[in-house]
Amino acid sequence: MLRLYNTLTKKKEEFVPIDKENNIVTIYTCGPTVYNYAHIGNMRTYIFMDTLRKVLKYNGYKLNHVMNITDVGHLTSDADEGEDKMSKSAREQNKSVYEIAKIYTEAFFKDIHRLNISEPEHIVKATDHIKDMEEYVKEIIKNGYAYETSKGIYFDTSKLPTYGELSRIKIDNQKAGARVDVDKEKKNPLDFALWIKAPKEHIMKWDSFAGLCYPGWHIECSAMSRKYLGEKFDIHTGGVDHIPIHHENEIAQSKGATGKNPANIWMHVEFLLIDNGKMSKSLHNVYTLDDLEKRGIEPLAYRYFTYTSHYRNKLNFTWDGIKSCQVSLDRLRELVNSHKDLNNNVDDEVLKDFENRFIEAINDDLNMPVAISIVWELAKYSVKSNKIYELIMKFDSILSLDLNKVKKDNKNVEVPNEILELLEQRKKARESKDYALSDTLRDKIKEKGYIVKDTKEGQEIEKV
Ligand code: AMP
Ligand code: ZN
Repeated sequence: MLRLYNTLTKKKEEFVPIDKENNIVTIYTCGPTVYNYAHIGNMRTYIFMDTLRKVLKYNGYKLNHVMNITDVGHLTSDADEGEDKMSKSAREQNKSVYEIAKIYTEAFFKDIHRLNISEPEHIVKATDHIKDMEEYVKEIIKNGYAYETSKGIYFDTSKLPTYGELSRIKIDNQKAGARVDVDKEKKNPLDFALWIKAPKEHIMKWDSFAGLCYPGWHIECSAMSRKYLGEKFDIHTGGVDHIPIHHENEIAQSKGATGKNPANIWMHVEFLLIDNGKMSKSLHNVYTLDDLEKRGIEPLAYRYFTYTSHYRNKLNFTWDGIKSCQVSLDRLRELVNSHKDLNNNVDDEVLKDFENRFIEAINDDLNMPVAISIVWELAKYSVKSNKIYELIMKFDSILSLDLNKVKKDNKNVEVPNEILELLEQRKKARESKDYALSDTLRDKIKEKGYIVKDTKEGQEIEKV
């Protein structure tokens, strides 16, 4: 039984998809705003998204998953303040907004591929769905949940008694605390922009029922999730920073248009901290995967690093921490490979027990720290067997750490005479077509810590 934590109910719930008959799970993930390189904190969120996908698949579900690319409408604050992030970046880098979107979308995909993150079934760009957003806004207006000001169309939060249900914000406290001087035309401080009237100098704008406008950030997710997944889908994911504004507003918009909360389960990833603090440009501690690689850390060591903490806990990044994860990952791969092609007997019951424990961990709201500890225990198992190797490879369909990888610098190692002798005997065995002897010798070599491969050039040897 798969249990997932739902931010909406603040409980772990048994997962049952809406489409039980076809076993299809519908998911929406808030994707990147493509105005800059994604940092490793962002990547924690997408690793989580991928792990969730793979855990669902392990449980036999098929997926229909949508992730958006925000290439318009996300202002420098999640509320309606500041400049459009895309326009700001374009101005600073002296490029067009479309160039900016292209550069950072490509960089984003390069990053997620390096982390073995699979792409969701639908990747949807905000700028390709402006009409859908406009229609959505019109529905909200028709249902009486919106009003117009000189700046745009705003959602009237006072019309929705359930507003704030996701973050359980005390609306009255918020109202008292909100800055009253922000926008006097707004009826309530928490009202937010659905459709924004573009000032003359604004670059990205579209002709619409309200003149030249551009969409608010929140409306893009509501319009695109409904378009691809319908009014109600199974799971909505994002980072914890989305809870109080972005996702609260998505729920409000959906209720305004369709009367429904769009997702049954809302899942949120906690933040990655750097040296126990926030990542910030002024502190020069906003790291990317490239920064890690420059210091000899492979992206998958970062993926491993994210498994050291549950996704609902904060995770503190330090260089010492990530370096030790690289060492652990190398060691784990060595151990896993030491089981390859060996035929010693392991009881099927033992393997079943390991798999049950692994499934219990992943199905307990993706408890990856426990799951990875079970993989270690199995990799260290006293008997060397290819069955263990195969089972760990099955687990790696979720972990995605390339646990079958053999360290490259292990090639061309100095091979002791004893191994060279065994290699010679094996060569002779193969020449006389005694493959049984050849296999026995390969196992013997393996037990001594070396892997032999047959290539066109003859036998090749690597250290496990
Ligand atoms: P953005 O491209 O800024 O919209 O952010 C992309 C994703 O990264 C969002 O889901 C954020 O919630 C998430 N995110 C941003 N900063 C962090 C962080 N430090 N740790 C984890 N996730 C983050
Ligand atoms: Zn979103």
